[in-house]
Amino acid sequence: MDNCATTRVCSAAAEAALAAMRDDYGNPSSLHKKGIEAERLMTAARKTAAALLGCEREEIYFTGGATESNNIAVLGGVSARKRQGKTIVASAVEHPSVAGPLAALEKEGYQIKRIAPRAGGYFAAEDFIGAVDGDTVLLTMMMVNNELGTILPYGQVIPAVRRRFPGLLIHMDGVQGFTKLPLNVGRLGVDLFSFSGHKLYAPKGIGGLYLRKGVRVSPIQYGGGQEMGIRPGTPPVPLIAAMGAALELCRKEGPEIRSRYQALNRGLRQALAALPQVVINSPEDGCPHILSLSVPGFRSETMLHALEEEGIYVSSGSACAKGAVSEGLAAYGLPAERAQSTLRVSFSKDTTPEETAAFAAALAKVIKHLDQVINLAGPKGQEGGGQ
Ligand code: PLP
Repeated sequence: MDNCATTRVCSAAAEAALAAMRDDYGNPSSLHKKGIEAERLMTAARKTAAALLGCEREEIYFTGGATESNNIAVLGGVSARKRQGKTIVASAVEHPSVAGPLAALEKEGYQIKRIAPRAGGYFAAEDFIGAVDGDTVLLTMMMVNNELGTILPYGQVIPAVRRRFPGLLIHMDGVQGFTKLPLNVGRLGVDLFSFSGHKLYAPKGIGGLYLRKGVRVSPIQYGGGQEMGIRPGTPPVPLIAAMGAALELCRKEGPEIRSRYQALNRGLRQALAALPQVVINSPEDGCPHILSLSVPGFRSETMLHALEEEGIYVSSGSACAKGAVSEGLAAYGLPAERAQSTLRVSFSKDTTPEETAAFAAALAKVIKHLDQVINLAGPKGQEGGGQ
């Protein structure tokens, strides 16, 4: 139940990686047959990624994961446009792999306009559109928020901004929405799109960046010129082949996966409605593979470990926050007590209704047990009180 943190590698991906390590283990830069075989594996993976994104395969660059893709997009993109302006527009709930590079640019003198959600946790498209002006060098917004599953209004924002500022650099961190929501990067008008393999049944350490043809990004590291110099270094062919196989699986699943997630989400919300202590944080119209909830009065970590005892693994907020109260949840306006008692449940293609029912039953058991502990400890035993 923690598939936004990472997923199990699918068999097709594991087999593709093994074959690329054992048989087709050449360096794709080599001119001989072994190199050509490795290059062919990369081309096949590029083709699959391009088919899912709605772009050409030459527009796909393999990276070490979405963190690297986001760093290349933000730092490399802004670096290539040094004299074009000093303002960057971003959502206030970006993942640290976007928020971190933005903070670094802020120290260099860029002004970051961070667009926060309005009351109720919804982003208003006009807040993004109104923030972009002639001084803006980059607009970056995530597709789906990793903590709550909120779908950002990119469908309205990006085409509107593109019409007004045809040359503006636009990036989207697509990690939590890619393959889950309909997408065509060309039609949307985004220049850069980051995705991660390990959220989609590929191993960790591989991801990709869509870079629209003709858009310039400065390299943020230097080496042998692989991936057109954008991500130099010998490409990890086994990981690339594995991601290709995993993405092929996602492609075959198609949009049908969304209705499966919707059914799981609905079923779990219904089961949780029987637990009066539980508050749902995710919006009804969020991306349905993510469900964030809080049980005010109990700390996330206490519940997380109690659920672990039941054989159920979830996140406290987001895996990246590592137990700290996340800035993202604060930006959503969640009161501290609710943010500290957040659990994030997230589904994969393999999650079943029986598993979501088992989660709801285990949570009920955990709440009952923790309630008993608190009652035994008396009024001062309230979890997290005064901390
Ligand atoms: N962006 C978002 C929205 C994420 O959820 C994550 C991972 O949790 C990342 C970026 C980073 O991806 P990776 O682990 O591939 O570096």
